[in-house]
Amino acid sequence: MASIPYRQLFINGEWREPVLRKRIPVINPATEVAFGDIPAGTAEDVDLAVEAARNALTRNRGRDWARAPSAVRAKYLRAIAAKITERKAELAKLEVLDCGKPLDEAAWDMDDVAGCFEYYADLGEGLDAKQKAPVSLPMETFKSYVLKEPIGVVGLITPWNYPLLMAAWKVAPALAAGCTAVLKPSELASVTCLELADICREVGLPAGVLNIITGLGPEAGAPIASHPHVDKVAFTGSSETGKKIMTAAAQLVKPVSLELGGKSPIIIFDDVDIDKAVEWALFGCFWTNGQICSATSRLILHQNIAKEFIDRLVTWAQNIKVSDPLVEGCRLGPVVSEGQYDKIKKFIATAKSEGATILSGGSRPKHLEKGYFIEPTIITDVDTSMQIWREEVFGPVLCVKVFSSEDEAIELANDTHYGLAGAVLSSDRDRCQRVTEAIPAGIIWINCSQPCFCQAPWGGNKRSGFGRELGEWGLENYLAVKQVTEYTSSDPW
Ligand code: NAD
Repeated sequence: MASIPYRQLFINGEWREPVLRKRIPVINPATEVAFGDIPAGTAEDVDLAVEAARNALTRNRGRDWARAPSAVRAKYLRAIAAKITERKAELAKLEVLDCGKPLDEAAWDMDDVAGCFEYYADLGEGLDAKQKAPVSLPMETFKSYVLKEPIGVVGLITPWNYPLLMAAWKVAPALAAGCTAVLKPSELASVTCLELADICREVGLPAGVLNIITGLGPEAGAPIASHPHVDKVAFTGSSETGKKIMTAAAQLVKPVSLELGGKSPIIIFDDVDIDKAVEWALFGCFWTNGQICSATSRLILHQNIAKEFIDRLVTWAQNIKVSDPLVEGCRLGPVVSEGQYDKIKKFIATAKSEGATILSGGSRPKHLEKGYFIEPTIITDVDTSMQIWREEVFGPVLCVKVFSSEDEAIELANDTHYGLAGAVLSSDRDRCQRVTEAIPAGIIWINCSQPCFCQAPWGGNKRSGFGRELGEWGLENYLAVKQVTEYTSSDPW
């Protein structure tokens, strides 16, 4: 049986037992068997980690991370990227065992993780040149410019669906900006983040620049959000937890950025290539075992193609290979945990009891006796008042509604409290543009669903959160803008 290295918390550049010496079992969702454990940190450990991060920020006797030339910081980020690439196969396998995503997908994630560190090494290196950007003033006796400075110590709290990638989206820009950090990954998938700690040690990242505290949300996450010496919290996770983080941060007027859940629409018009559109619909909802915040899980389908489209959708969904995610060719693995499995089954049962039709899937595949597997599920006869239409499932469940006019499609798409993403498929470019402008979401895909590039901004509107990650917006997340104005005349004012 596979096992994982015994790891402790990573504080001030060293492994350290949690003060309360508690641990959490790590369960392989494909087998339901525990294959190791991770440390369960608490407020006491968070205090130590924050202190280490504060020291590393500005009081490290010449090795201050905040004041280091950006080229020095970039050197470490590139070294981390190189190590991720070197250890790609091992890290991908650990990710699979920990969270259940197919091995191919985990391997691509590792490429994205390395790419993200490299990207922010480059972007961060450009920061020095952008300092002292002049501001034009209406009076000649004053000169003004802007400094962009690291916000300080940042708390980074992340979910389990892309364990190492979601951490990279925060750690890389935060460190590139000159912040020091305390990372708290999800208790359901922390293994690769602890390996990131090991990589930081290997590349000699100065002590305290990145500290990693694993543990339960209320025990290890909440103390970060409410810590008086954490200057900002960047959070990715559910809207429910996002509200708690915001409430805690509000007590100290601490800035937060929130990447929360979604219930994103995919609108498919009747002028598409049906085969291609079916592929995007399946990919958009079932990638990463359906556990993507931006999953286009509400399919809004033109009535003229509805029957043919749904027939093909069901046939293809039934052909998706559901298996142990380490098996070659697996396209859908188990969902992350028993709790998540039960929650998704309950969503499906409620949809049925509310009158929807489970057209395909809905259960554990017959050939898999163990593991938290759920077949790709397609639900029709959905009413907009139903829970399955309104709430994020975060599993392989797609619900379908048919429309007859562009206005109706937009109305259905916007019938949600969320605003993370959306997709529109049509061969009419003007129509795609109109629909794009009519949906108040942070990301719109045209004739595709889910591509993600670290150069382009990522984040949501409405109850999907605020702030943007990735691209230059991701770096700005960790920078404070300082106005400096100088009186340049020798005359008294
Ligand atoms: P979650 O909210 O349960 O947990 C996220 C993180 O918050 C975990 O590390 C958890 O331990 C921690 N946490 C829990 N309670 C806390 C508390 N009281 N104080 C501080 N931290 C606490 O979310 P999850 O189940 O891990 O992830 C799934 C959710 O994440 C989905 O809603 C999904 O849409 C969302 N997500 C969003 C994005 C995005 O970019 N918008 C990306 C990935 C996932």
